[in-house]
Amino acid sequence: METSQKSVTDIRFVCRGTFVHSTAEEALQILEDALLGVDSKGKIAFIGEGTDLQRLSESFGFSSCAVTQLGQHEFFMPGMIDTHIHAPQYSYTGTALDMPLLQWLNTYTFPVESRFQDLEFAKKVYTQVVKRTLRNGTTTACYFATIHTDASLLLGQIANDFGQRALVGKVCMDRNDSVKHYKESSEESQEETCRFVKELLNKKYPLVKPVVTPRFAPSCTEALLAKLGEMAKNNKLHIQSHISENLEEVEWVKELFPNSESYTDIYHKCNLLTDKTIMAHGCHLSDEELVLFRETGAALSHCPNSNISLCSGVLNVRNVLNHKVKLGLGTDVAGGYSPSILDAVRRALDSSKVLTIQDPEYKTLSFEEVFRLATLGGSQALSLDERTGNFQVGKDFDALRVNVAAPGGPIDLIQNEKPQILLEKFLNLGDDRNIVEVFVAGKKVVPFSEP
Ligand SMILES: [Zn+2]
Repeated sequence: METSQKSVTDIRFVCRGTFVHSTAEEALQILEDALLGVDSKGKIAFIGEGTDLQRLSESFGFSSCAVTQLGQHEFFMPGMIDTHIHAPQYSYTGTALDMPLLQWLNTYTFPVESRFQDLEFAKKVYTQVVKRTLRNGTTTACYFATIHTDASLLLGQIANDFGQRALVGKVCMDRNDSVKHYKESSEESQEETCRFVKELLNKKYPLVKPVVTPRFAPSCTEALLAKLGEMAKNNKLHIQSHISENLEEVEWVKELFPNSESYTDIYHKCNLLTDKTIMAHGCHLSDEELVLFRETGAALSHCPNSNISLCSGVLNVRNVLNHKVKLGLGTDVAGGYSPSILDAVRRALDSSKVLTIQDPEYKTLSFEEVFRLATLGGSQALSLDERTGNFQVGKDFDALRVNVAAPGGPIDLIQNEKPQILLEKFLNLGDDRNIVEVFVAGKKVVPFSEP
């Protein structure tokens, strides 16, 4: 049994039943008839065995009658982590999937993102995306917003109001913008990023933090990238961007930055590869570039729906893991059309199987490994693994209560399926109807409380 040193009056609630999660050693650890206590700060105070109830209730000072007992087809799993999602693009998700990346950005993305100067429109879309992702079990999201500082601050406020853990980035782009009213100068971009970071930190939201967000190298001058890198370094900020998503983009980057050895080298030279950096995609990175990721501690976000929907490429996840580069899953809404990390889990498995079809020697990812990417892996990729990612004592209780047999849900059970089968069915067949409760930092955030 694991416990932390807590006073006897500190317990907020206790649950008993099956808990599934990942650890460094095991992609899937199943704890049957476990007891988990959450303290008044929302942190996991203890995890023990159900049969130890009497002793635990005495040492932690809770009444054994006050324990919530999970049903036979229920389990708790860690909240899922979306390491890459564009909140404004949620407004057209599920459409506009008929073009490759660079044309897609100019045709669909930039015109839509330019509308977020309108705070009423921003409020509507951002409320929808935060609610939709929470309901689908995303307890932590790493968001791109738009270039608009006030709308980006509003996204932070909405995430805070609904209790979602979030990194929020005001997008920076000072070149190659094709849309008339969607551009900023280098100076504006730097100053507004400063203002965004300062104002968001001043709000002192417990779970929402800023992330420095150059859109991607082709949208930014080297001078702007260097300034952003300096700002992130001086203030120890998170950083997010895109890298090596499709081949046309990779070629364009070579033309735009003729003096750089590689796409990765551009970010590296500008101090944008740190252990708080997450880069989306990386489908076409060389092994040398992956080594640079590992050396700097920078992470990748695997967004398989997007990579397939925009015909960008197929990330060789096994190779990334073999290089010991931190990796999480992302929806990349709206390049990826689904806002659910469950979808990312399925597309990650499909993509891995495509690689096995092409090369039977390729070691396909197991569902347990992808489950780890969706939870613990995501928390490591965002450098939030001291706070979230699994059920380790001392971490925040970010969790989904899953009922695989939820009435009216998408899954039929035939016999007394074991927890591992229940998890596999949920990952492959489940949806938000199976996610009956969502907790972030010990607070129940789904079902939504009425204002
Ligand atoms: Zn993206």
